[in-house]
Amino acid sequence: MADQQTREATDLFIIGGGINGCGIARDAAGRGLSVRLAEMNDLASATSSASTKLFHGGLRYLEYFEFRLVREALIEREVLLRAMPQISWPMRFVLPYHPSMRFESDTPTSKLLTTVMPWMKGRRPAWLIRLGLFMYDHLGGRKILPGTSTVSLKGTPEGAPLEDRFETAYEYSDCWVQDSRLVVLNARDAEARGAKIMTRTKVLSAARDGDLWRVEVQDTQTGETATHFARMLVNAGGPWVGDIIHEKVHLNVKEGVRLVRGSHIVTRRLYDHDKCYFFQGTDGRIIFAIPYEEDFTLIGTTDAEHLDPDKRPDCSPEEQQYLIDFANRYFKQEISAEDVVWTYSGVRPLYDDGASSATAATRDYTIKVEGAGGAPLLNVFGGKITTYRRLAESALEKIAENLPDVSGPWTAGVTLPGGDFPVDGVPAQISGLQRSYPFLSERWARRLVKHYGTEARKILGEAKDIEALGPMFGGDLTGAEVDWLMDHEYARTAEDVLWRRSKLGLRQSEAQVAALEDYMQAGHRRVDTRVG
Ligand SMILES: Cc1cc2nc3c(=O)[nH]c(=O)nc-3n(C[C@H](O)[C@H](O)[C@H](O)COP(=O)(O)OP(=O)(O)OC[C@H]3O[C@@H](n4cnc5c(N)ncnc54)[C@H](O)[C@@H]3O)c2cc1C
Repeated sequence: MADQQTREATDLFIIGGGINGCGIARDAAGRGLSVRLAEMNDLASATSSASTKLFHGGLRYLEYFEFRLVREALIEREVLLRAMPQISWPMRFVLPYHPSMRFESDTPTSKLLTTVMPWMKGRRPAWLIRLGLFMYDHLGGRKILPGTSTVSLKGTPEGAPLEDRFETAYEYSDCWVQDSRLVVLNARDAEARGAKIMTRTKVLSAARDGDLWRVEVQDTQTGETATHFARMLVNAGGPWVGDIIHEKVHLNVKEGVRLVRGSHIVTRRLYDHDKCYFFQGTDGRIIFAIPYEEDFTLIGTTDAEHLDPDKRPDCSPEEQQYLIDFANRYFKQEISAEDVVWTYSGVRPLYDDGASSATAATRDYTIKVEGAGGAPLLNVFGGKITTYRRLAESALEKIAENLPDVSGPWTAGVTLPGGDFPVDGVPAQISGLQRSYPFLSERWARRLVKHYGTEARKILGEAKDIEALGPMFGGDLTGAEVDWLMDHEYARTAEDVLWRRSKLGLRQSEAQVAALEDYMQAGHRRVDTRVG
């Protein structure tokens, strides 16, 4: 409430604690700007925890001639990999080839091919895939990741789970990222550089008040309200970007987002190697099958129009069946609804470029500033997890046109908390952790390194045995880890811990979830994340 009396204004007030809001907060705080960020739920509670979790160039976007986006994303993969080797790692993608593969009919490439080679009748020829992969290898900055190769599917581990009609595949590189952990680490780093991160804080309204924005917020747990002032407002509301413009700020802006739901299914592990599959469908769409959380396989995604951001996205029975049928055209061992252990869905906030289909809508981002000169508003439309850092740099370029003394870009090459070790250093981190804490199993040490990197040691502290880490909640989750997540990573509920800070929810029983919830509710809360 002190703000209301003094009108003490920050440079930026950011709405939205997804990857784009937190990425902008970190970049801005590092450039010396004073920053407040409000997230109405938990960090990454919307789209940024529901992605396919790839740092990728987006092979299929080449068919839409999205060369700028693909090039930027390809270069960015390795920049990000170096900055966070604990939560991101290289993956190989196996793309089986079969002559029946088809284009989606409205891609620019398929239209071109239909004009010049009408006898192809919408087929996606092998030479075109090779050309695409050649471009993918050479468009941008690949130094760490291996390039494309051809693999036989006869008598090889890659071919073993697939139907016999697949004889050859192409194999290329992209990277995995723990999406919701990426968001939290950006928020933490922003806070370490002076930003104030307010979770469970909803922006009710924002209005211009002279040269400032006057922002009314509410703590969604206590109902308490407060007012903040800022020189510039950033709308990184993801699927709610339009709602914020029209319902919270009451402005008439012509840009909009198109909401496209994407769903994934998770099954028990379907095959024994650590590579991913890139499957092409007869409808021109593609899906991935990815090794997930050691014991599972992740399959996705769909593209379905989603009209209301307030309607919780859920994987519909039709989407689930679509993914099952799609996978069954490739895997020898058929899967059914009984094999699905979990599903999740997210809403892509795509910039509305008037594309005819959800699949065709651009995945590129657009940043627009409204009202430059006095109390400007910066709106973020679209974007990918992969391009969040570049999106933040573009946003800061525009912010610098409106605020004085903003220093230059700095985030490339600067590690996120816990990521201060080499890209190929994970095995050394795991064995080092086991040496220091001999009671850790290899699997437990690996999970800790792949979540917290070098900070795993801060969680384990002086512990000499498991008992020293407090209560056990199943899946090797201890009181010490939960305390860390509450003290340093803004976790408030069991759901935050089990589905966003980790994916241990896949293994927890109802009783364990209840015990964790009791522990957290009885525990302390971070005072500095409250409203006011
Ligand atoms: C199915 C699917 C798969 C994807 N796969 C990939 C992939 O593999 N690789 C990749 O690079 N990208 C991928 N993406 C894209 C990527 O996930 C999104 O572009 C990105 O997460 C969007 O982040 P955001 O911060 O803009 O939105 P969000 O993460 O949705 O964040 C917006 C936040 O704003 C908050 N908010 C809204 N209104 C208010 C308010 N009034 N007050 C306070 N807070 C508010 C919301 O609660 C929300 O947390 C995928 C997307 C989907 C849906």
